[in-house]
Amino acid sequence: MPKDKATAPSSDFIRNIVAEDLKADKNKGRIVTRFPPEPNGYLHIGHAKSICLNFGIASENEGGVCHLRFDDTDPSKEEVEYVESIKSDVRWLGFDWDDHIYYASDYFEKLYEYAEQLIKNGKAYICSLSAQEIREYRGTLTEPGKDSPYRNRSEEENLNLFRRMRAGEFGEGSHVLRAKIDMTSPNLNMRDPTIYRVRRVPHHRTGDKWCIYPMYDFAHCLSDSIEGITHSLCTLEFEDHRPLYDWILDQLNVDCHPQQIEFARLNLSHTMMSKRRLLELVEEGYVSGWDDPRIPTLAGLRRRGYTPESIRNFCERIGVAKRDSTVDIALLEHTLREDLNKRSPRVMGVLRPLRVVIDNYPENQVEELDAINNPEDPGMGTRKIPFSRVLYIERDDFREDPPKKFFRLAPGREVRLRYAYFVRCVCVVRDEKTGEVTELHCTYDPQTRGGDSPDGRKVKATLHWVSAAHSLEAEVRLYDHLFLKPNPGDESDGNDFKASLNSNSLETLTSCRVEPSLRGSTPGSIYQFERQGYFCVDSVDSSAEALVFNRTVTLRDTWARIEKTQKKNKGATIGDKN
Ligand code: ATP
Ligand code: MG
Repeated sequence: MPKDKATAPSSDFIRNIVAEDLKADKNKGRIVTRFPPEPNGYLHIGHAKSICLNFGIASENEGGVCHLRFDDTDPSKEEVEYVESIKSDVRWLGFDWDDHIYYASDYFEKLYEYAEQLIKNGKAYICSLSAQEIREYRGTLTEPGKDSPYRNRSEEENLNLFRRMRAGEFGEGSHVLRAKIDMTSPNLNMRDPTIYRVRRVPHHRTGDKWCIYPMYDFAHCLSDSIEGITHSLCTLEFEDHRPLYDWILDQLNVDCHPQQIEFARLNLSHTMMSKRRLLELVEEGYVSGWDDPRIPTLAGLRRRGYTPESIRNFCERIGVAKRDSTVDIALLEHTLREDLNKRSPRVMGVLRPLRVVIDNYPENQVEELDAINNPEDPGMGTRKIPFSRVLYIERDDFREDPPKKFFRLAPGREVRLRYAYFVRCVCVVRDEKTGEVTELHCTYDPQTRGGDSPDGRKVKATLHWVSAAHSLEAEVRLYDHLFLKPNPGDESDGNDFKASLNSNSLETLTSCRVEPSLRGSTPGSIYQFERQGYFCVDSVDSSAEALVFNRTVTLRDTWARIEKTQKKNKGATIGDKN
């Protein structure tokens, strides 16, 4: 449960159902939800929506419980590494399952018994068609399917074959167990779906014990039932599976029949959330790993500098609805800025340094100037920053030929150095060969210490800077959207999501200079580099000797602009909240 939950989330259609059920004393007033990841990849921000919903509902209702259940029924794609990462990501987001951690694989024996029960009830049979034939027999949306020739095997024969499947007598694909429902059902999921198959793959928890594994639709509803789940919340693509969920539980006459409720999955623009595709990016080296700061995994977002609070706030803000939509990634960044603005100390860091010599400043003098750590939070105090004769400013903050409305430094012009003095550019030094500006000479006005002029003189720009001798060198990684298009992999990409990968999504700057207060910053610390954005110390590659920062997000808020236009075009919504 979030420790710092300020307000209860506003209601939504699922919370309304839960409230109604409580009022009607359904399930004897119990509320039990679950978050059921398959350990075949790292969690992404879409999962965060589901986590916030499931753990949220449990925590908002007295006695409510949310289970963390690993849906580990497909050993070919699942790994312990994923189990561990999922646990740490859920904790990092701020939720706690207490003792309620479960594994579908712990139910394999029970699930097997349920399957035998179905056979005994005449509701399941062993089908010996090939996978290809099964597909052909299934029919299409417009044509009914055909009964399998094996559909009327006797109970005895079915049991015998099923037991031999379990005993390992058959190879993969030779036989499957199918539910006996209706090959003419308009719902394809009800056309005798496969519920067990042979898989000769060891499982990361059960080892070689099993060579048959239950299918998702069979395992999921029964796992929910075994655990006494009251509300089984899943994404919309399972809506068509609900009749099967209910059918299986009805046939087996179980004590607990949870209610499946579907909600819209989170889609985010300029990125992509399928675990299969993320795995592809990781395995093929498009990104550095599951925690690459450009991908929307929780591990990536954490390394990028996202806080759990910002992600929870985002999930609350987008709400929960039944209609699919794509949320602009700018909203996620906006929510992040709101959070970082409050919590991050301000510092000065120069990304692309340009040397500045203050000609009239005494050669060996160093002044310690007062700087405010966070104007939003006086409690965060002040610090000292050294000022000396040689400084670095941002290369972008100087133009030899300033265009109209460029108010920063230019030959002859005076600007303010933050917390320091007014300086005026008196001379530009150029590389003889390339003509590139290599150094500026300025003069300072000693009367303007602290940044104000006693004679009321005004300047139009305030620049950040660092003292050359005192500053620390740092590497800074600038990130941009992973994809160039809001909707990667749509028809215009020929459905190839990699076609619109942004080849400039990472820019690495190696000779940046940051103020000395950053010496020894701990990995993960987040700062606002004044005028630049929010940056966090990289948790993997940064060290005391070689600082590495990730740009978490810039200061420029595109969401504010989007929202303004949305308000103008009345009727538009934030996220999928209705
Ligand atoms: P993916 O499609 O990314 O591989 P998945 O649905 O296969 O995801 P699971 O591990 O099965 O991944 O998901 C665990 C839970 O998280 C499920 O209840 C699923 O509905 C939910 N979930 C997954 N993706 C999203 C999303 N984008 N938005 C909301 N909930 C999601
Ligand atoms: Mg899944």
